Amino acid sequence: MQRLAKQWQRKGVRIGFVPTMGYLHDGHMSLVRDARKRVGKKGMIVVSIYVNPTQFAPTEDLSKYPRDLKRDLKLCGDEGVDVVFTPSDQEMYPGGQNPKSKIQNPNLFSTYVVEEKLSQSMEGASRPTHFRGVTTVVAKLFNIVLPDVSVFGQKDFQQAAIIQKMVADLNFPVKIIVAPTKREADGLAMSSRNKYLEGDLRRQATALWRSIQWTQAAVKRRKTVSPVELKAEVKKLIESEPDARLDYVEFFNPQTLEPVAEVKPGAQMALAAFVGKTRLIDNARL
Ligand code: AMP
Repeated sequence: MQRLAKQWQRKGVRIGFVPTMGYLHDGHMSLVRDARKRVGKKGMIVVSIYVNPTQFAPTEDLSKYPRDLKRDLKLCGDEGVDVVFTPSDQEMYPGGQNPKSKIQNPNLFSTYVVEEKLSQSMEGASRPTHFRGVTTVVAKLFNIVLPDVSVFGQKDFQQAAIIQKMVADLNFPVKIIVAPTKREADGLAMSSRNKYLEGDLRRQATALWRSIQWTQAAVKRRKTVSPVELKAEVKKLIESEPDARLDYVEFFNPQTLEPVAEVKPGAQMALAAFVGKTRLIDNARL
């Protein structure tokens, strides 16, 4: 992949890149369309499909993460993607990456990229090793794919902010684009994990979007609202569904990710909730 990217670079061909974990949906494809607009007809679009083990905690859904490569390749073909890069764990982490492993391997993967500020709150607080895995794999992918432009989804707001920070701090020569969240007709943010939502759980999952819309209306009407009050209302709304449990909801400055003392129009809201066993996230500008 890197050799191919270097050949393109030598010819002055622009490279647009969309990293994913596969099980693609129209949210992913909207990023592909955005990337194509940025590099033009003569540019090359690369989509990576890699379920990255270092961003999952041992207790999380790594082995159960949905996969359907055949379908993903068809979707990418239909959308005019030039290359789908699907590395194996063996290629990405050749010596393995678990320092507690009993096998003494001199090639053990031991270099990580760690963002230390924006990754402390929200997803980082709930999933302590998650962003270290994300920044590490994205840095590796940037070094392999050598993109001019890479598109990320606003759906993962904190992730996009951390990637932008990593690129600025470490001088990666890539332009980061953050594209809007694609939603189902009832407002549920598209996600590969929505596949887990069986029966009534699919309906209950709309509570995340409903709580965002409720909060947007409240902030529009009242101009300034206390975050404590809003958090209690959101928790009540989410947990009025029988199988839903709020993990966190935060109100923060979209640039710094610092929590705001008063919620006003322009603040960002993000939340995570379990619906059955599935953990969903969503966010929006208020
Ligand atoms: P994932 O495969 O879930 O790791 O996501 C790969 C990329 O697609 C990330 O940049 C996500 O933020 C983005 N993405 C996921 N869901 C959506 C969505 N509903 N709308 C827009 N982008 C999305």
